[in-house]
Amino acid sequence: MKKSILMLLFSALLLFLIPMHTHAASNQTKIILDGQELSLPDDVEVVNVRNNIMIPIRVVAENLKFNVKWDQETQNVNIQQGSNALQLTVGKEQAKVQNNTVKLNIAPQMIKNTVVVPIRFVSEEMGLRVGWSNKDKIVTLTSSTSLPSTPANGSDEITNLVHDINYANNQLVVSLDHEVTPIITTLKNPERIILDFPSTNFGNMGQVPSGGAIGKLDTSDFPNVTEVRYSLFKNDPAQVRIVIELNNVNSVNYTPQTIAGKFILDLSMVNDPAPPTPVNSGKKIVVIDPGHGGSDPGTISFTKKPEKHFALALGLKVQALLEKEPDIELIMTRETDIYPTRSERVKLANDLKADVFVSIHGNSVTSAPQVSGTETFYYQRESSKELANIIHKKLIKALGFKDRGVKNGNYQVIRETTMSAVLLEIGFLSNKLEEEAMMSETNQNKAAQAIVDGIKEYLKL
Ligand SMILES: [Zn+2]
Repeated sequence: MKKSILMLLFSALLLFLIPMHTHAASNQTKIILDGQELSLPDDVEVVNVRNNIMIPIRVVAENLKFNVKWDQETQNVNIQQGSNALQLTVGKEQAKVQNNTVKLNIAPQMIKNTVVVPIRFVSEEMGLRVGWSNKDKIVTLTSSTSLPSTPANGSDEITNLVHDINYANNQLVVSLDHEVTPIITTLKNPERIILDFPSTNFGNMGQVPSGGAIGKLDTSDFPNVTEVRYSLFKNDPAQVRIVIELNNVNSVNYTPQTIAGKFILDLSMVNDPAPPTPVNSGKKIVVIDPGHGGSDPGTISFTKKPEKHFALALGLKVQALLEKEPDIELIMTRETDIYPTRSERVKLANDLKADVFVSIHGNSVTSAPQVSGTETFYYQRESSKELANIIHKKLIKALGFKDRGVKNGNYQVIRETTMSAVLLEIGFLSNKLEEEAMMSETNQNKAAQAIVDGIKEYLKL
């Protein structure tokens, strides 16, 4: 008798456990490097941190046969390949590439004893092309060196030589001794075009950057170009990288062509629209920023809806209320499903000399769907903290979600804006019940009213 009860209990447990386990396994993200799936250690995974796909740097670097060293005390990861050196620090948004400091989208984090970094960093600084399928949860990495077939004996390899790099009239001209087609990648924030020339070294040209040094062209005559830099990105096989960094450019198209041994890249840039003239009506200027939009879905909710839709729906409700306020001049960073970059949102608010900036988001932690609640972020300034406290209190009262508090957060839109600025994480879209609540019209109206009341109280209107 006793035995059969145990058996019954055991089978009941099995019934409960098996489907859960299968579910977890099918959600596992894969990393494919040059066509081969990387075997990730059991406790290592690809994570989405505030809409940044983060991948474990060690796994990638080791598979590329880079030398990886971890320093527990300084929390530094040092990655070495040939003469190239990268240094990342957990929690720091800056990394060192050779002796240059580069800014990351989001700081590397330590998750389950593994340092994870945003895939953007991997693509730009490790010379990999990155693809991300949100549907299939697959990260595809392609190392440019895998494209041309590399002979086993390095000495047989053809190395192309760059003899001159020139930039003028929206045209980059690279003179080479052989025809080479570079791999071209573009990155945003700021807008950059990256050209990687495989099996290419510097030939007889004016300023050859030796070792890991970076050469720069004089681009002072071209206001749309911040700089054009070039370096020997990899040794053995050699790879030359040229980066064109643009300034105040909304979007850029390029046409590559090869003419008489010269590689030419024609750029056509769409400039930022002129900033709207600051209003001088004595009214307070409020900028409402529905997060994400267009090509940037933000996080994906429990029922697979993009955060951008939630942010816009709530933003438009705030807009409707604020437009009725006689003492407020309201500017929206977006009113439709488009993607202004974060820098553009910041610039808009700063150019307007706005009094208040409110960015609207939905939170997510897919690995822990039970997490819920409202969080409000400010960045350092006391005035922002005060605004955050007022709006947060009203949101908690209006929605009744768990109070996760007002926090100092290092986000570009609240860090680089110069007025009182807050970023609202209304609730967790990854939480089943909270998503349901956040999607309801009634709750969105309540949240909108709370935000408006908070802004008015802060502005003493
Ligand atoms: Zn967001």
